Amino acid sequence: MLYDALIIGGSYAGLSGAVQIARSGRSVCVLDGRQPRNRFAPHSHGFFGQDGQSPRVMIAQARADLAAYPNVTLIDTLATQARREGDQFSITLASGEILHAQKLLLAYGVVDLLPEIPGLAERWGQTVLHCPYCHGYEVRGGHLGVLSALPQSTHQALLISDWGRVTFFLNGQPLPDATTLAKFAEREIEIEPETVVGLEGEAPGLDGVRLADGRLFGLDALFVASRIRPASDLAEQLGCAVEEGPQGPLLRTDATKQTSVAGVYAAGDLTARGGNASLAAADGVWAGVSLHQSLIFGPLAQLEGVLPA
Ligand SMILES: Cc1cc2nc3c(=O)[nH]c(=O)nc-3n(C[C@H](O)[C@H](O)[C@H](O)COP(=O)(O)OP(=O)(O)OC[C@H]3O[C@@H](n4cnc5c(N)ncnc54)[C@H](O)[C@@H]3O)c2cc1C
Repeated sequence: MLYDALIIGGSYAGLSGAVQIARSGRSVCVLDGRQPRNRFAPHSHGFFGQDGQSPRVMIAQARADLAAYPNVTLIDTLATQARREGDQFSITLASGEILHAQKLLLAYGVVDLLPEIPGLAERWGQTVLHCPYCHGYEVRGGHLGVLSALPQSTHQALLISDWGRVTFFLNGQPLPDATTLAKFAEREIEIEPETVVGLEGEAPGLDGVRLADGRLFGLDALFVASRIRPASDLAEQLGCAVEEGPQGPLLRTDATKQTSVAGVYAAGDLTARGGNASLAAADGVWAGVSLHQSLIFGPLAQLEGVLPA
């Protein structure tokens, strides 16, 4: 069967795009590996009408909404290969089966590459946090650590000082420049130069971080800016252009969410500077609408005023 659209990744971005295409009556198939980025967090915050809901429940509801459309196929599997074949595309599934579509929407998200510090990974999403807007309110007023991991970790420390008392752990990274140090002083951010060798407490709870000199530094939560990589190499196989984002590579898209390869759209964290479920869902809606309209009008970039509907 030739689908109108094949979507790789069935989470906030992919399912949001799929429902737009489903509602046009076109055939759409969603492939999903069931590993949304926020699966480590018991609660998702800040999503319209769903603040504090479990990510698992949110995605289950979105899948059920989508499955009600007869023109939708939802397959829980990984896509392993993507190829352009003339004006169409083929996608190979983990089983070896090959599906065909007129257009693709890549929404397979990113993987967080966490610093390899004992005790850190098992607290990710609970007491080791990436974003204060997602999880800062729950630890407000506490003693909050920020691990220096990326150049923007200093920005993170300045930001997070709105939520609580902040200690910035250099962890082997250089001291911030004089301007940043002055801002740290204004925001009463302390700097701890000693290396962090582990996180302690009954996981996922956190008592504090163990330092190389033997001290246990008490904390309520530790914020970490992770490096990221795409969750799949399908875009690479298709030849889609990539650009360097602040945390790692991102897929380049135009204003209609089309990648550099005609007929291949992309949405969500895979294309975004910063991760947020609401933004990924909105991005997916935009990509789904664009993809659908391109089935009628061809490439939209040259057609002013076609979007939105
Ligand atoms: C710990 C943590 C907590 C977070 N908490 C919040 C929060 O409270 N509020 C908020 O707004 N945001 C939160 N976020 C950010 C949010 O998780 C992301 O912005 C959002 O999940 C991005 O959605 P997405 O659809 O782009 O990708 P994802 O949700 O990562 O989904 C990608 C999907 O594609 C699938 N996939 C990957 N490769 C393939 C393949 N080859 N074939 C088929 N399927 C594939 C995956 O299995 C996955 O299901 C959090 C992030 C983290 C890391």
